[in-house]
Amino acid sequence: MKLLKPIDINKFLQGKEENIPENKTLTDILDKIKESEKIAIFTHESPDGDAIGSSLSVYLALKQIGKDPVVYIPEFPRVYEFLPAFEHVKSEIEENVVFDLAIALDCSDLARVKGKEYFENAKSTIVVDHHGTNNMFGDLNYVNSTSPACAQVLVSIFEYIEIDITKEIGTCLLTGILTDTGGFRYQGVTAETFEFAADLLRKGVDVADLSVKVLQTRTKANFELSRRIIDRLELLEDGKIAFSYMTLKDEEEVLAEPGDHEGLVDIGRSIEGVEISIFIRQKEDEDAYKISMRSTNYVNVSDICYLFGGGGHPRAAGCLIKGNVEQVKNKIVAEAKKALKEQK
Ligand code: 5GP
Ligand code: MN
Repeated sequence: MKLLKPIDINKFLQGKEENIPENKTLTDILDKIKESEKIAIFTHESPDGDAIGSSLSVYLALKQIGKDPVVYIPEFPRVYEFLPAFEHVKSEIEENVVFDLAIALDCSDLARVKGKEYFENAKSTIVVDHHGTNNMFGDLNYVNSTSPACAQVLVSIFEYIEIDITKEIGTCLLTGILTDTGGFRYQGVTAETFEFAADLLRKGVDVADLSVKVLQTRTKANFELSRRIIDRLELLEDGKIAFSYMTLKDEEEVLAEPGDHEGLVDIGRSIEGVEISIFIRQKEDEDAYKISMRSTNYVNVSDICYLFGGGGHPRAAGCLIKGNVEQVKNKIVAEAKKALKEQK
């Protein structure tokens, strides 16, 4: 999506740009950035490649236009440590800091924002996202639910305001696109996804190298967890639902680190005939499980997760449910069965 006529962001910031963007939200966002000194970037808990790639790209873009933002990602999966600007990521913020501007990326609601207390206290807030379930919780919201990755929304914004998409920024953006589309495979990939990717490749981004790092390589702990998850996997409803789980004990035993559960829900979905894959993992407070759901062809798993206060996308969604494995399994499987019948 090429947006209108590009503007020169540096001229805009200096008040010399005559070609004021016709997109009101974008103009307001740029104004806010221009007038803000203390800026912070936030994303969701258990950050994935899109959350991290989007955050680092916005950090680099703001640096480019003379700002000095804080990028806060307290649980940083090791697989993404190679990304540009990783060394600037903060895992702590001083208590009671009030930011002039807080930007949330790849988050559909306030509860998802890691560091939401700082976000809430900021003088102004901006949300950039691609979830259909986004409830527009910022003062300014730039949400495009037809975009398969938050990073793709950012490419369109950066191109529009003529941020120089360097190889570093492009690497972060393509990481978001690659991971949220499973390597350009999922529904939601658009012709623009490839056009944007082509633009990023022209900037020198190494797609093969990036694919090996963010799609192909798994940590040893992730591999050990997948053995257990395969062992426990149950096929229900004539093989249309796959269910498996992981506990805190599993994580301790395999020495799991943040992000080591990534991709485990896909094991169930890869089985012939499975329409809904459900993977649940125990949370630190022990009495609750985080649900990851995927569907193959027709079931809207975002609708199912929404019933439990979560959300996401039609083919990939999540929520949190209280209880032990059996209780949580019964609740979520019951809704999955209903959805299978209703949405056939
Ligand atoms: P995952 O299963 O990879 O953790 O998440 C799949 C998708 O669902 C992602 O787009 C993620 O942002 C979204 N999602 C996961 N958990 C939640 C949740 O608790 N609330 C909402 N609103 N979205 C979630
Ligand atoms: Mn995303």
